[in-house]
Amino acid sequence: MKKIYEWKYDDNHSVQMPMATIQGAQEGPIFTVTSGMHAGEYAGILAAQQLIQTINPSELSGTIKIIPIISLEAFMMRNMQLSPVDSREVHYHRPGNPSGSYTEFQIDKLFELTKDSNYLIDIHAGEFAQALHPWVPVPLVGSEETQVASISLARGFRVEYIELKRDPKAIPALCIAMAEHGIPNIWVECGKNGIPTPEHVSINYDGVISALQTVGMLPGSPDRPDQIEISGRRYQINAGQSGVWHPAIKEGDIVDKGQFLGRLTDVFGDELETYYAPERSLVLYYWTSPAINYDRQPHGYDWHTGLISMITMEE
Ligand SMILES: [Zn+2]
Repeated sequence: MKKIYEWKYDDNHSVQMPMATIQGAQEGPIFTVTSGMHAGEYAGILAAQQLIQTINPSELSGTIKIIPIISLEAFMMRNMQLSPVDSREVHYHRPGNPSGSYTEFQIDKLFELTKDSNYLIDIHAGEFAQALHPWVPVPLVGSEETQVASISLARGFRVEYIELKRDPKAIPALCIAMAEHGIPNIWVECGKNGIPTPEHVSINYDGVISALQTVGMLPGSPDRPDQIEISGRRYQINAGQSGVWHPAIKEGDIVDKGQFLGRLTDVFGDELETYYAPERSLVLYYWTSPAINYDRQPHGYDWHTGLISMITMEE
C-alpha cells in the first residue's frame, strides 16, 4: 500500500509524509526505513525508492514500512537541513509535543507512523553543502537487548566506520525516543553534497537488505564487510565570524594534533581565522560550501558556521 499522509498544522501549513507498506507473505516483525529527513540528502531517498520498487512480498517475512521523504515540504522547496517553515532541525526534536512548533508536530507524526516498528533505519546522505565519509552511527541507549540489536543492524553496511555512541547528549532526540520505546535503530550517513551517486545509493540499499536478512525477514545470509568501530569524542570546528571558508582537509582524512585544517577569509580573500586540529581525529564530514554566515543561527543552531565535524582517534 502506498499512501501520502497529511495532517493540518495551522491555516497555512500541513505536514505530508509518503509511506509505502509492504506486507510479506509470511509472518514476521515490522521493519521501518526512513529517509529525506534532511531533504537534500538524495542518496538515501533514492535508495528508499529502490527498496519500495524491488522488495518481493513473496520472499518477505513480516512488514516493511518505507517513508522515502520525511520532510516532503522541504524536499519540494530544495531546502537544506533546517525546516523551511520554522528553521528547526528535525533530528534534534523529540516526539510528544504535537502542539509545539511545526517541526515538533512533524516529528510527532513521524513517531505515530513508526512507533509500532520492531526495527528502524533512518538514512541520511549529506546535504548539498556537506561532504561525508560514509559511516553508520549506532545509538547505544535503551535496554541491553535493544543496543545489541541496533549494532547488528549496522553490521551489513559497506562503510569503513561504525560509530558506537554512548553519550546521550550526542544522540539525536528521535533515536533516543525510539530506543527507549524498545525499537533498535540506527541512522546511516552515506552520501555527499546532495549527489545521489550509484555507489552511495547502493551502499544504502544493500545495507538495508543485509539488515532485513540479519533479522530473518529476507532469505539469504547478510553481508558482513570489515568495519572499524569508533567511539571517540565527537566535536565540531565552527567559524567565529562570517566569511569565506577554504578547507585544507577532506572527508575521511585522519589529521594529527596541531595539523592545519583550513582558513577563513573575508570576501576579498584576506585571512580572518585559521584552524588546527586539537587532537588526532577523523574527519567524518566537512562543509564544502565556502559561505559561512555567523549571523544565521536560528534557535541557536550553528549549522551555518560549521566547518568540520570530527571524532577523536587513538593512535
Ligand atoms: Zn541528515
